[in-house]
Amino acid sequence: MKPAPFAYRRPGSLPEALAALAGEANAKVLAGGQSLVPLLSMRLAAPALLVDINGLPGLDTVTVTGDGVRVGALARHADVLAHQEARRVQPLLAMALGHVAHATIRNRGTTVGSIVHADAAAEMPVVLTLLGGSVDVESTAGRRTIAANDLFLGPLESSLRHDEIAVEAFFPALPPGAGVAFDEIARRHGDYALVGAAALVDGDSVRVGYLSVSDVPTVVDLSGVPLDEMGEAALDRLEPAGDIHATAAYRAQLVRVLTARVVRAAYDMAGTAGSTHEGER
Ligand SMILES: Cc1cc2nc3c(=O)[nH]c(=O)nc-3n(C[C@H](O)[C@H](O)[C@H](O)COP(=O)(O)OP(=O)(O)OC[C@H]3O[C@@H](n4cnc5c(N)ncnc54)[C@H](O)[C@@H]3O)c2cc1C
Repeated sequence: MKPAPFAYRRPGSLPEALAALAGEANAKVLAGGQSLVPLLSMRLAAPALLVDINGLPGLDTVTVTGDGVRVGALARHADVLAHQEARRVQPLLAMALGHVAHATIRNRGTTVGSIVHADAAAEMPVVLTLLGGSVDVESTAGRRTIAANDLFLGPLESSLRHDEIAVEAFFPALPPGAGVAFDEIARRHGDYALVGAAALVDGDSVRVGYLSVSDVPTVVDLSGVPLDEMGEAALDRLEPAGDIHATAAYRAQLVRVLTARVVRAAYDMAGTAGSTHEGER
C-alpha cells in the first residue's frame, strides 16, 4: 500500500518546526521514519502534515556528564550505541541498544523517537523508566520535562501533546557500586522481543523493568525477595498476555527465566559477592 496524501515540511529551525506543528492539529513529527513510515504505508496513520525534523541543528548530540547521558532528538540508536563515554556512565544503554532491531535500522532510527513512539515492545522506553529518566519537550508555549513514569499512557500512546517535539532524553548515570543487566528472548536477533527484562540493583534495592509483557513499560520492585522467588513475585504484579507471537503461559515462563538471569547479572556487575543474596545465587 501507499500512504494517504500528506503535506511535507522540512524546517531549518526549531521555532519554525514548532510553529508548523502548532498550525496543524493532524500533524506528525518525522525523525528516523523507521516506525512512522511503515505506519503511513499501511495507512495505520494518515496525518495531514509531516514535519521532518532532520534539518534542525544541534539535536544530533550525545552529551555525557557525571549526572548521566543526554541524547538529542536526532541522535541515532547507532550513535548512542557507539558512544564509549555514554556506555561507561550508564552501561544499560549499550546493553539494551544492542537488541534494538538491526544495524541498518539503528543507523537511521532515533533513540528519542523510539521512546516517544511508546511501543511496549521497544527496549528504550523500559530503560528510561527503570533508570528514572525523563524527556524534555518543546512547543510554542515553552519547554517542559516529562518524567518517564508520566510518559507512557498506553500502547503507542505517550503524554506528549500534538504540538510538542521531544528534544532530548536524559538517562541518569549508574550510581557507584550499582549494577545493571539486560536480556531478551526474540525469535531472531533483531526482532522485537517476545519478552525482555532490564535489572537495576543498587544496595538493597532490586528493580526489574519488562518489555513486551504489559501495554506500557513496567517496572517491578523486587527488593528483599530471594532471587529464586523473584520471577514468581514479578508475575504477581504483571499480567502477561497471549498473542500471535507467544501464549500468555510462555511469556510468564520467560518472565521467570529472564528475571533471575538479569538480576544475577546485575549483582555480578555490582560486585555484591558476600551480600545477603549471595547464598541464593
Ligand atoms: C524491521 C524493524 C525492526 C525494528 N525492531 C525494533 C526493536 O527490536 N526494538 C525497538 O525498540 N525498535 C525497533 N524498531 C523501531 C526503531 O527502533 C525505530 O527507530 C523507532 O521506534 C522510532 O524511531 P524513529 O526515529 O525511526 O521515529 P519515527 O519513525 O520517525 O517516528 C515514530 C513516532 O514517534 C514520533 N516522533 C519521533 N521523534 C519525535 C520527536 N523528537 N518528538 C515528537 N515525536 C516524535 C513520530 O511522530 C511517530 O509518531 C524496528 C523498526 C523496524 C522497521
